[in-house]
Amino acid sequence: MSTTETPIENVVIVGSGPAGYTAALYTARADLRPLVVEGYLWGGLLQQTTEVENYPGFPGGGIEGPALMTKMRAQAEEFGARYITDEATELKLSDEPGGVHEVHVGDEVHYARTVILAMGAQHKKLGVPGEDELGGRGVSYCATCDAAFFKDKPTVIVGGGDSAMEEAIFLAKFSSKVVVVHRRDEFRASAIMVDRAREVANLEFLTPYEPIAFEGDPQLQTVRLRNTADGSERTLDINGAFIAIGHVPQSHIAADQVEIDGDGYVVTQGKSTRTRRPGVFAAGDLVDHTYRQAITAAGSGCQAALDAEWYLRDTPSIPLAQKTAESSV
Ligand code: NAP
Repeated sequence: MSTTETPIENVVIVGSGPAGYTAALYTARADLRPLVVEGYLWGGLLQQTTEVENYPGFPGGGIEGPALMTKMRAQAEEFGARYITDEATELKLSDEPGGVHEVHVGDEVHYARTVILAMGAQHKKLGVPGEDELGGRGVSYCATCDAAFFKDKPTVIVGGGDSAMEEAIFLAKFSSKVVVVHRRDEFRASAIMVDRAREVANLEFLTPYEPIAFEGDPQLQTVRLRNTADGSERTLDINGAFIAIGHVPQSHIAADQVEIDGDGYVVTQGKSTRTRRPGVFAAGDLVDHTYRQAITAAGSGCQAALDAEWYLRDTPSIPLAQKTAESSV
């Protein structure tokens, strides 16, 4: 196919959490026929969640995370969104207003006038021995997913933020005892969350400690801890360890293309979803340090869709052939 015949998409969306699917819904309704590179495990972190009770519109107990994502995906598809259930492997983003961007999926290249980055975030790992080996065999990153496997068994939560408190309170409904292990004596979590956790009878705090190894074969049996103040070590007998130490934005494929902050989040301009590349927008947990909610991700996906729509309306396009000749992206 010659470059002049190469189809150029209006919008390619990379990622498929609430931000990606909401961007798909809005751009589909604007007749832009978005192409969504949704990954193999589409749906983002909500696929690992059970009840979602704080997404508006689902009274009477909320909705299961995977069901919510299936609905979002289907709703965008009804209006013409198209999906590639594969991973984006490379981005080549133009620097020119009206330029053509490339989204690579293995050997396939998709050309686009606008790109919406919505790759989300993943659970941060401790990086200690046994963590990977015992993943799914006692070590978990999602109490809401896995707490029920530890009914009447002792567990630990690692972390001192709001996520750790929330997970600990939930986990305590199942476990015989939950120990919150945190590396400092002060908590990053809001006072109200720490107070709530302190009120739970079968929940204890152990500070300032950090895990140095998870052990057991074939299932997790112990966690080795080091006191971060005096270096002393101790071991706890446990069946489950839940790690809630924050998230890592999945910005690696865009890292050399758009501005990324010290924590790996994509930087957007002002209140918009614009990145420093014309026609490239970013939304959801990829951008958001603070709120990280399904509803806020969906809201920013909507903003990115509108920003992309306005950009397409207002920016004269550079033909692909001209772009190929003139640009070195
Ligand atoms: P976070 O606030 O960044 O807290 C991460 C915690 O993990 C911190 O206590 C941190 O310790 C600890 N940590 C990080 N790396 C570690 C390591 N390598 N080893 C040991 N500990 C480590 O993350 P989050 O709790 O996921 O919360 C993220 C955002 O979502 C926050 O803005 C939070 O308020 C919000 N959120 C709100 C709610 C709610 O209000 N219901 C629920 C969940 C999340 P240090 O403190 O020592 O750095």
